[in-house]
Amino acid sequence: MKNIKIGLLAGLILILLLSGCQKQLPDPEAEPENLQTNESSDVSEQKFVRTESKVVKDKKTKSTITTQESFQLGTFITINLYADGEAPNEDFDRIFNEIERLEDLISKSIETSEVAQINKNAGIAPVPVGEEVYELIKLGLEFSNVSSGGFDISVGPLVDLWGIGTESAHVPEQSEIYETIALINYQDIELDDANRTVFLKKKGMELDLGAIAKGYIADKVKAIITDEGYTSAIINLGGNVLTVGHKPNSEAWNIGVRDPQDEHKIVGSMKLKGNSIVSSGIYERYFFVGDTRYHHILNPKTGYPEENHLQSVSIISEKSATGDGLSTTVFVMGLEEGYKYVESLDQVEALFITDENIVYMTPGLQDVFTLTNASYEVKSMGY
Ligand code: ADP
Ligand code: MG
Repeated sequence: MKNIKIGLLAGLILILLLSGCQKQLPDPEAEPENLQTNESSDVSEQKFVRTESKVVKDKKTKSTITTQESFQLGTFITINLYADGEAPNEDFDRIFNEIERLEDLISKSIETSEVAQINKNAGIAPVPVGEEVYELIKLGLEFSNVSSGGFDISVGPLVDLWGIGTESAHVPEQSEIYETIALINYQDIELDDANRTVFLKKKGMELDLGAIAKGYIADKVKAIITDEGYTSAIINLGGNVLTVGHKPNSEAWNIGVRDPQDEHKIVGSMKLKGNSIVSSGIYERYFFVGDTRYHHILNPKTGYPEENHLQSVSIISEKSATGDGLSTTVFVMGLEEGYKYVESLDQVEALFITDENIVYMTPGLQDVFTLTNASYEVKSMGY
C-alpha cells in the first residue's frame, strides 16, 4: 500500500514539474522553480497525495512564501501562505483535511457521501443532510433558477452518460440522450427546510455539484486560512483561484487567465485583492471525434455539450462559490445574455473569450485585466 502511495506521490511530483501545475498561475513572479519534496511518513496515512512545504523568501514583498500542493477533488490543489517565516505544517494539515472532509460529503462518486445518499434514494425517500450540503444545493438551485435550467445540478445522469474526462468518454446514442435528459429537472429536487432533507422525485435522478463545489470549498479554506491569522495567501483549487488579502507589500495579486488553447500560456492577467477568479471553458475536460470537440459543460435541454462560440468565461467575485456557479451558468447563457446578466449583478465581473479569440469584459475589469497574448484581441460589446 505504501509503495502505491509513494508511486502516486512520485507521479504527482513529475506531473507538477512537467506541467507547471496551475491552470491559472497565481502570482507568476513567485512561481516555484522546483519542488523540494520528501516522502513524508504521513503520506501513507492520507487518502490523498500531498507534497511537503516548499519555502521561498520573496525579496519583493519581504516575506516568506510557504507552498504545499495536493491532489484532491480530482485536481491539483496549491496553497501559498505568505508570512514573516515558514508556515507550520499543521496549518496546511487543517486546510487539506477540510478539503477532504468536504469532498467526502459532496462527491457523488464517494459512496458514503451525503450527495451519493441523496442520489441512491432518488424516487424513494427524502434524505436528511448536514447544513453544508443543504446550503450548497440551495445555492445551486439559485443558479438553475436564473438560467431557467441551463445550469442544472440534477445534470448527473447526463454527465455519467457522456463520461467526459473518464476512460469511457463517448458520444451516446440519440435515444439514450432523450431518455437521460427526461430525468434532468431542478424543479424535481424537493427541499424541506424544517427537516433539512433533500428528495429527488424521480428514480434515476442524480445530483452533480461539480460545477460549484470547488468554489464553495475554496471559501471554506479561506475561512480557515484567515482564522489561522494569515492576511496574504492564494488558494488554487485546479484553476479555481481565491486570494486572501493582497501581497504583503500591499500590491494586488497578479493572476493569469488561462489561454483556452494552450495550458502553458495565459491570455492576460488580473489584478486581484481578496477576491476570486474562476473560469469555465471548453478546454477543461473534453474529447475529440474527428474535428468535433465534446467538452464537459452540457446543455441539459439538448443533452449535448453547450455550443455557443465561447471558449471560456471567467468570473471575478468576492465569494468563490458565486464565481464557480456563475462561470458555468454564464457560460451556458452565452455571450449576449451572460454579459447582460453579469452587468445586472453587484460586485461581479466577467471576461468572455470567443472562438474567434475576441475578449469581451464587463466595465469593472477595464483597469483590472491586462491582455498579454498577441493571439487575442479585446473588443467592446458596444453598449
Ligand atoms: P470545472 O469542473 O472544470 O471547474 P465547471 O465549474 O464549469 O468546470 O463545472 C463543470 C462540471 O459541472 C461538469 O464536469 C459537470 O460535472 C457539471 N456540469 C456540466 N454541465 C452542467 C450544467 N449544465 N449545469 C450544472 N452542472 C453542469
Ligand atoms: Mg463552475
